[in-house]
Amino acid sequence: MLSSLIRRGLYPLNEWREGTRILCGLRDLESTEYAPVDRLNDGRWRKLKAILDHAFTNVPFYRQRFRDAGLAPDDIRSFDDLRRIPPLAKTDLVRCHDALIATNIPKEALHHRASGGSTGRHTPFVRDNACLNIKNAAQFRFDGWTGWKIGEKVAYVWPAIQDFAAREGVKQRLRRTFVDRSLILLSGSLDEPTLEHHARSLGRYRPKLIRAFPNPLVILAKFIRASNRFGPKGSAPIRPAAVLTTGEPLLAPHRRLFEEVFGCPVFDCYASRECGQHACECEAHDGLHINADCLYLEFERDGQPVATGEPGQILVTDLDNYGMPFIRYAIEDVGIPLEGACSCGRTLPRMAMQAGRISDFVVSPYDGSYVSGASLCHYLLVAGPDVGQLQIVQDARDHLTIRIKKSDSQILESAHVQEVVARAFRGAMRVTLQEVDGIPHEKSGKYRFCINEMKDEELGLGT
Ligand SMILES: [Zn+2]
Repeated sequence: MLSSLIRRGLYPLNEWREGTRILCGLRDLESTEYAPVDRLNDGRWRKLKAILDHAFTNVPFYRQRFRDAGLAPDDIRSFDDLRRIPPLAKTDLVRCHDALIATNIPKEALHHRASGGSTGRHTPFVRDNACLNIKNAAQFRFDGWTGWKIGEKVAYVWPAIQDFAAREGVKQRLRRTFVDRSLILLSGSLDEPTLEHHARSLGRYRPKLIRAFPNPLVILAKFIRASNRFGPKGSAPIRPAAVLTTGEPLLAPHRRLFEEVFGCPVFDCYASRECGQHACECEAHDGLHINADCLYLEFERDGQPVATGEPGQILVTDLDNYGMPFIRYAIEDVGIPLEGACSCGRTLPRMAMQAGRISDFVVSPYDGSYVSGASLCHYLLVAGPDVGQLQIVQDARDHLTIRIKKSDSQILESAHVQEVVARAFRGAMRVTLQEVDGIPHEKSGKYRFCINEMKDEELGLGT
């Protein structure tokens, strides 16, 4: 009742007050989800041409880059032609930051953000305020696939304070309580009192959707399962309609844990700070549908498109951010393009994420292919992979160090490790086992199963 009131009245009223157009953007996105592929492609082609023209005319970095490549926007006549433009590297964002900002957009219509927690590199970037409408609409669309509707409660189990207002004033608090209806549970450090607090808060709040980084949610879910303290005495278990995970790779055993503890389906979503929502699972849970109206994704290895079903580095072209156009941005994530129609009937193309970032992968010295750290973990451990138990570090082209918590060392058998590594890398990789007191999480609050310490040049990312 209340959620329907918010959806029909309070939310549109607040949009009018704040001058946003999120609901309108959501309607546009939903209208193309099931449309014939040609209609979707016509729309995104128009958007692509428009942003290329804009970049050439108004962004000094791209004007130079197009000239260096001997290109004008009219030379790009198909999606394939886009490959004639060299990729945009993270180092370009740092070194050429000012030259990447559009000169025709007033300063007050731009806002500055930064990403880079998990890769350890601070990457500043800019967005124009207008594109926030479609970025927010894209998030609502994906959240909607889980069964959630605007006006229903969402709980965030989130390590990154920068995604929310650091100090909430009365206005923001009212807005969060009555319009966004969200509960924010920060998970940067999860000690026992914090876990207790979060479990009780979830029990009282009864969210329809839990949006979470998977690794902190693993710790919280295990705490809830072990303590059986769901909230105030006598209350029912925490039963959201769905869990949506984002920000870190979702491993199969963790998906099963969330399904068990929260008794609901789990949706894997791939998003980035720079470009927003990339892709999300639908109710068929058969790969992730790409947010193709808003982002054009390419999957490459050594500068060539990979075949469907093969992992490749993702290049993103953001069709909406005119403040700082991202054209063929090498976001340092790895994904797998998928083929064929989804049983849900949506025509948006699909991809798979074996694991997230390039640094979540081990590069094979045998043939340069990417081997997912998450799946290596899966094969190495006698029991299923767990947060903070094990970490694979590629510290040289042909060497791995596998860190294991002393108290958990019985879950690794040396002979088994040697055999798995020999099989995965065709005998070209050496391995050292290292017992450690504990495996800490990163500054950003993320836990890492795999860390690739090789330099960009060795990963094929150098500029
Ligand atoms: Zn689907």
